[in-house]
Amino acid sequence: MTILNNFNDIQSEIEKTAIHCGRSINDVTLVAVSKMHKTEEILTLISAGQRVFAENRVQEALQKYPPLKERFPDVKLHLIGSLQTNKVKDAVRLFDVIETVDRFELAQKLAEEMKKQNKNIPCFIQVNTGEEPQKGGCAPHETSLLINRCRHLGLNIIGLMCIPPVDDEPSAHFAFLKKLAIQNGLKELSMGMSDDFTLAIQQGATFVRIGTALFGQRSYSN
Ligand SMILES: *Cc1c(COP(=O)(O)O)cnc(C)c1O
Repeated sequence: MTILNNFNDIQSEIEKTAIHCGRSINDVTLVAVSKMHKTEEILTLISAGQRVFAENRVQEALQKYPPLKERFPDVKLHLIGSLQTNKVKDAVRLFDVIETVDRFELAQKLAEEMKKQNKNIPCFIQVNTGEEPQKGGCAPHETSLLINRCRHLGLNIIGLMCIPPVDDEPSAHFAFLKKLAIQNGLKELSMGMSDDFTLAIQQGATFVRIGTALFGQRSYSN
């Protein structure tokens, strides 16, 4: 099975990299990005012991994950795509971690809905480290203010997340995100994808989000 081979390879690569830079393997969590992939493929990884998954669209996650979570209650699902305020209710119901809090209006809606559902889901602030206009994430210079406002709302902000610009050297973005996290007293760093997760681990990533290198190419890009 290709997926299982990929899974083993990636796990060893994560371990090797963590150990090589003096980190504990327990400090780095593999987040399996299952967008555009089928339930059977997800089940292959669950059977092999993987428990942390991510989707970028609420709608797609709603179609795939409720039955999986019922069968495997310890499966954790992260939201890694931009969240529209009209999807907040579904998102709070389904996801265990929300990685894409990037504006105060969204934070307010999330805090309100979590109160209603009696939950306090861990969240990341997504930072647009490359300041790309088309990309989600808050501007780097607004990060501290947003974190403080989220804390006032009672949101459980655990760390920062970024997606570096495709043409940039990712390490500089990872190092920058780490600096921002330290400045704001945040421990978790969600950074690194299929092509650059070892670099991200070297720069302190605690969550790496890997899709293609695990599941293979997605049938259409997203
Ligand atoms: C799709 C996606 C990933 C995974 O990307 P791969 O290059 O397939 O590993 C990671 N993070 C986010 C936010 C994504 O949308």
